[in-house]
Amino acid sequence: MVNIKVAQTAGFCFGVRIAVDMAKKAGEQLGHAYTNGPIIHNKQVVSYLESLGVKELQDYSQLKPGETVIIRSHGVPPETERKLKSMNINVLDATCPFVKKVHDKVRQLVEEGYFVVIIGEEGHPEVIGTLGHLKEVNGQGVVVENFEDLVKKVPKRNKIGVVAQTTQSEDFFREAVGYLAENTEELKVFNTICDATSVRQEDVKKLAPTVDVMIIIGGKHSGNTQRLAQISKALNPNTYHIETADELQKEWFEGKENIGVSAGASTPDWIINQVVEKIKQLKGVYT
Ligand code: SF4
Repeated sequence: MVNIKVAQTAGFCFGVRIAVDMAKKAGEQLGHAYTNGPIIHNKQVVSYLESLGVKELQDYSQLKPGETVIIRSHGVPPETERKLKSMNINVLDATCPFVKKVHDKVRQLVEEGYFVVIIGEEGHPEVIGTLGHLKEVNGQGVVVENFEDLVKKVPKRNKIGVVAQTTQSEDFFREAVGYLAENTEELKVFNTICDATSVRQEDVKKLAPTVDVMIIIGGKHSGNTQRLAQISKALNPNTYHIETADELQKEWFEGKENIGVSAGASTPDWIINQVVEKIKQLKGVYT
């Protein structure tokens, strides 16, 4: 008897839902719009939006005055928004409110005289946007991805302020804050990891050890999905990270009855449902 448990929090977070709905509406109403990069890290959703006329912007030279650009949930540096507006582009801002909070906190820390440590991935679009806000207020700071970065990149300063990329791992965030607390006179910390991420991570921590196989669904380049897969793998070696139901393999489920499923914040419900149906098919369950 196969038992498939789908994590309650699997799938779209509210920030992604806002961005995808905005892009969908722009496609339906205008028939033509751009997004500044893939609107989310999910190829299937991006292809669907392309079918509505919403395409990824490749180059600013493509743009004509009056055209529409949707800023995705990751946000952008302020200078990008200014540039678009100066070109008479209609800018639809789908920056997630949690990401805007990171920008606000960075600005606050700079105003209060802190050197800013951003716990996140160098080169990630969200972090590029955050660094843009840091630069805008003439702040100083670094991005740290791992413990080695902390030791090497964070200079000796009396006042250090910390924020996190919204999709960072809670575990590394705590470790980094602990290290900085021991090595800094004054530390101010804003835990800007969004609830959508931490709640999904907690759900996976609970579910993974209780099942025989864990399936994590989401874009291979999606940071929050990758982290769900890492957390799950550490607790259950039979963890597989897939993008679509086509990647499921029958042998993963042989002799296994309890199957857990979760999905990153950029995975739509229809892909989760397809995966569940395919698992049932592979296990010979007919509904
Ligand atoms: S993961 Fe969090 S920060 Fe990112 S879009 Fe979703 S709600 Fe916003």
